[in-house]
Amino acid sequence: MPQLSNFDEIYQFLHKRFENEKEYLQAVHEVLQDIVPIYNANEAYKSLDVIRRLCMPERIIYFTISWMNSDGDIEVNQGWRVQHNSAMGPYKGGLRFHPTVNLSVLKFLAFEQCFKNALTGLPMGGGKGGADFNPKGRSDRDIMLFCQAFMRELQRHIGANTDVPAGDINVGAREIGYLYGEYRRLNNRFEGVLTGKGLEFGGSYVRTEATGFGLIYFLEAVCRAQDSVVEGKTVIVSGAGNVALHAALKASEKGAKVVTLSNSRGLLYNEQGLSEADITWAIENHNQRDNILLDMEDEGMGKWQADETPWHIKCDIALPCATQNELDECDARKLIENGCTMILEGANMPCTDKAQNVFFDAKVTYVPGKASNAGGVALSGLEMSQNAMFSQRNAETLDEQLQTIMNHIHNLCVTEGKLGGETYINYMKGANVAAFRKLADAIVAQGV
Ligand code: NDP
Repeated sequence: MPQLSNFDEIYQFLHKRFENEKEYLQAVHEVLQDIVPIYNANEAYKSLDVIRRLCMPERIIYFTISWMNSDGDIEVNQGWRVQHNSAMGPYKGGLRFHPTVNLSVLKFLAFEQCFKNALTGLPMGGGKGGADFNPKGRSDRDIMLFCQAFMRELQRHIGANTDVPAGDINVGAREIGYLYGEYRRLNNRFEGVLTGKGLEFGGSYVRTEATGFGLIYFLEAVCRAQDSVVEGKTVIVSGAGNVALHAALKASEKGAKVVTLSNSRGLLYNEQGLSEADITWAIENHNQRDNILLDMEDEGMGKWQADETPWHIKCDIALPCATQNELDECDARKLIENGCTMILEGANMPCTDKAQNVFFDAKVTYVPGKASNAGGVALSGLEMSQNAMFSQRNAETLDEQLQTIMNHIHNLCVTEGKLGGETYINYMKGANVAAFRKLADAIVAQGV
């Protein structure tokens, strides 16, 4: 087949092959519109068919997880690892355990991950994996049994220099511990094969906080570029997990008023702003509670509103930190009507493409997750390098490195995202183009 060289041809080619994979097509579409002109202007990219090679995963591993739960019943789940692209380093990206996990979701996440990892400047390829297992309401023992069964299958496909998974939705420190224990038992090797590990067995300081903290460091860079500050701004946050809570904490430390958190069941609203103590309490307790936001209401930290999302609440800054496509066109319009001027994604692809268009039309600042939530994988990269050296850096050093990396990503976005003569910065274009150049150059240099 000849090299495809225009947006429609390339997109139609992918659409025809993967027409049922809507999240994957959405993620690819979002990137293609920005990178096709760069591709067409470069003969080497075209002659080596870089776009098609970059859009399709190098390898997809599918497995069935048959396991016995603590009641002695047999359960059967589906698991995947999408090893998308390794031109820049070992595949790197999280594992998600959620009933909505399917191949399309993991392919979109793995594709995005390649771009995000490229932006960090660290040698990491991109991948993503997970299972359709729902850990909600399960005993600790069932979680351990499932993690062990999952790793029995996954272990033969990963390795410190091959593929290094981390956490994602419903995969936190506890799950990484169980997964790592099983890997070590089966392979008789202590190596940096997973990141997000406990500090006692090769984990890194600041990894737990890195995605949320990094998001706020990026926000600070955005504010600096606009001669503004985070202090005094009203911020709405969606989600009440790892990313949301650490973003809320750092925003609050920087003097912002964080008025919401949310989850799949509703919203916690505190008009006065959650205190650092409130958010710290949530961080310390959310893993042990079914719905930490209801408990926060009981503790007098805000008002619970069942089945609500945060997007109708008046704010200066919105940080969607829960899941993909959680913020649609109507939500985007409501945010703009209420005076919101900055939207930075903590989650992966939380804004629909129509919502993004509303932001671009209104010329408000919109930063895609592949740039603004890259702090997590950046710290994972630093965890890998510490593991390779059998060392452990201190928290202060790592926090400084995280800030440096987020500022670096911000600068890349500004350089590539400034539209001719205008002051408006298109962070999405900036992130897509900067990452694409790095990935494409790595692919070209390594030949077919
Ligand atoms: P967690 O599992 O810690 O938290 C997820 C949160 O999102 C929970 O509050 C959950 O609520 C909520 N949520 C899940 N599904 C929905 C839904 N359909 N509607 C509304 N809320 C929902 O995950 P993380 O904080 O780790 O991840 C959040 C996002 O950030 C994901 O998009 C992830 O890919 C992305 N991300 C994570 C990184 C990390 O380092 N952990 C790195 C970069 C990106 P409930 O408890 O009710 O299900």
